[in-house]
Amino acid sequence: MVRMRATERLHDQKEKQTLVEKNRVDFVINSHEWRECESEFAQVSEQTAFAAIAINAKDRLVAEKAIEKLYDQTLLAEVIIKHTKSSDVQYAALCKLNDQALLAAVIGSIGSEHARMEVVNKLTVQSVLADIAKFDSNTKVRSTAVEKLTDQAALTEIVKMEKHNGFVCLSAAERLADRSVAQEAFAYIAKQDFYPENMRYVHSGSEPLLDAVKNLDDRALLVDVAHNAKSTEVRIKAMEKAGLICKKDEHKWIKTGTCLKKCAVCGIGLYDHDYKEVSSEDTGEVSLSTYECTKCGQSGWASGYGSELQDGYCILDV
Ligand SMILES: [Zn+2]
Ligand SMILES: [Zn+2]
Repeated sequence: MVRMRATERLHDQKEKQTLVEKNRVDFVINSHEWRECESEFAQVSEQTAFAAIAINAKDRLVAEKAIEKLYDQTLLAEVIIKHTKSSDVQYAALCKLNDQALLAAVIGSIGSEHARMEVVNKLTVQSVLADIAKFDSNTKVRSTAVEKLTDQAALTEIVKMEKHNGFVCLSAAERLADRSVAQEAFAYIAKQDFYPENMRYVHSGSEPLLDAVKNLDDRALLVDVAHNAKSTEVRIKAMEKAGLICKKDEHKWIKTGTCLKKCAVCGIGLYDHDYKEVSSEDTGEVSLSTYECTKCGQSGWASGYGSELQDGYCILDV
């Protein structure tokens, strides 16, 4: 009987204590200023209480103070998943999260690219990195994930899956260890027609594609690229590398138009315009000039981003 009373009393005391703790946490959560709740906050000790504060605090600084006290990895992940409205608070929690499985679990809840980059930097699990490299909406995030990948099957897959950014593709191909697999990948890239997002409107300047040709030394693949690449510039580069174009002084030029000639030996065409600048405008970022040929009247523009002027070799329809 006596013992039962003691247990009861102990139980009551515990409940009372829990209630005090709960009220304290609620007070901290509802404070509009750190100073207002600083002393109450100092008496909080449970990890779950810090997580509740981090998730629900009205004031951002209070939430960040709670994150400073959090070390429980599962709770930190919960804060990240539930705190999608403030990217600063999410980021603060992310900086303390190191558990690989939890990092993989939270990345889908993170809107900020900067924070997703942070996750990628911390991740080492190949399968998770591969998924990010394939499916993340941001090019930089995909690129960073590719740089951390060593899984050869995943890298091969990424080369074929990437449809928007040639740099992501190229970076995956460069990480392929098997020479023939890598060569196949470079040839595949060279034949595409995508451009880096910021250069999509420029006709030339398809650098990743040209770099893929630079990496190619398998002659059969070079010939394939020379015939089948979508970009003329890439085809010419591949022809040069495969030895399908004469040396500069060995061409036998036949005039085929006012500003166009064709080599009787290798079949390559050559533009021979006499461009003069007719107007120029400064858009603030870069100047754009328009040119016109004094001989045939053909006109086009050129800027720091690229040029649509006809210059050098071309491929003539047979
Ligand atoms: Zn020639
Ligand atoms: Zn001309």
